[in-house]
Amino acid sequence: MKTAVVTVGKELLTGRTVNTNLRTIALKLKQIGIDINRSYVIDDLKKEFKKILDFMDEDLVIFTGGLGPTVDDITRETVIDYFGLDTFIDQEVLDKIKYYFDRAEVEMKDTNNKQALFPKDSIRLGNNLGTAPGVYFKVGKRRIILLPGPPHELYPLLDEVIEIIKDELDINLISRGFKLVGTGESSMENNLKGFYGVHAKVNVAPYANVGEIKYIFTSADTDALDRAMNDFYNKFKEFIYGGLEDTLEGVVVELLREQNKVISVVESCTGGLLASKIVNVSGSSNVFKEALVTYANEAKIKYLDIKEETLAKYGAVSAECAVEMCDNLFKKTDADLTLSITGIAGPNGGTEDKPVGLAFIGINYMGKTTVYRKVFNGNREMIRLRATIFALNLARKALKGTKESNDKK
Ligand code: ATP
Ligand code: MG
Repeated sequence: MKTAVVTVGKELLTGRTVNTNLRTIALKLKQIGIDINRSYVIDDLKKEFKKILDFMDEDLVIFTGGLGPTVDDITRETVIDYFGLDTFIDQEVLDKIKYYFDRAEVEMKDTNNKQALFPKDSIRLGNNLGTAPGVYFKVGKRRIILLPGPPHELYPLLDEVIEIIKDELDINLISRGFKLVGTGESSMENNLKGFYGVHAKVNVAPYANVGEIKYIFTSADTDALDRAMNDFYNKFKEFIYGGLEDTLEGVVVELLREQNKVISVVESCTGGLLASKIVNVSGSSNVFKEALVTYANEAKIKYLDIKEETLAKYGAVSAECAVEMCDNLFKKTDADLTLSITGIAGPNGGTEDKPVGLAFIGINYMGKTTVYRKVFNGNREMIRLRATIFALNLARKALKGTKESNDKK
């Protein structure tokens, strides 16, 4: 099916907003075997809509953006008007929008009414998150879909769209996958040479994120899918931390919970990111009691008794300091596992010996300490995230080691 995606909004053309919706839609469609043939980014102007609609001949056309209530949000009425469709105002949607405003104690303006405009015989797509429900309708054989711009509103509606398309086109594809940490996309692709040929019935797609990769396997043949996933698992089990719904921090918290263990962390350059990841997991209070951010040297001395001598001789970004940080935290708390991170997130502060991205990550697990030296790539934010993920993965591996040796007993 020839498919086009139109992302609407001046902010996408000026670069103020990165067009992540295109990527989100492309990845989702790929999972049901649909490739995008063309994509357009247009300003929210009536004449721009007319130009591309005159030009387009795709069977499936997805618009995102411009479904809101303000005067510059014109996607809904412009597209519906272009096709000359009969319309109606959906009272239920109107009531929902009104309820949304009442709850927020804001007066609803008349301009919101247009968000309840639908072509006859269209399908309404959710509207729980914002005030802009999406629309799915057909013009002859063509399928036209209008979705809101804010990414968090787009995701659930896109899932509805995928289900409708799968249903209408009788697509029986199944998608599953793994999440990996501690490896890179290029090294994975190198190790996957030959894999794709052996599992020709399965579409295998990698999605790299900062510090993590997701591999999604899609096929209509469940046996072929299982074989490919087993084969993949056996090749890469050291890096696989879970399925598509899992998070690394969620897996760590679960391992701690299963083993009745407590974690505590001390951070310098990550400034609380590691603690925050752990707290993101609901139920973490059972396994996480306290954490420290000792950013300045004085704080390291004041709260953790890091020796002045260590700081003077080796510096705060050193293996010695990382070891003292996690060991002293281990002594001060009754945690079974402590992690420490000290590094240079940049962009300033690097030297030849200690470049930007350098970090020392320490782990004390049941009294045994190990420290790692890493140089992470990327900007300040990415370096901090990579160091956090590395530390979480150390905890995961240590706890998994115990779990596996317990299982063998
Ligand atoms: P709203 O009710 O919020 O106005 P809308 O459907 O009218 O929703 P827009 O006004 O086009 O959507 O965009 C709202 C916000 O959504 C933008 O400011 C931007 O942050 C985000 N957004 C829109 N389009 C995209 C896109 N293609 N990729 C990523 N983010 C986007
Ligand atoms: Mg808008």
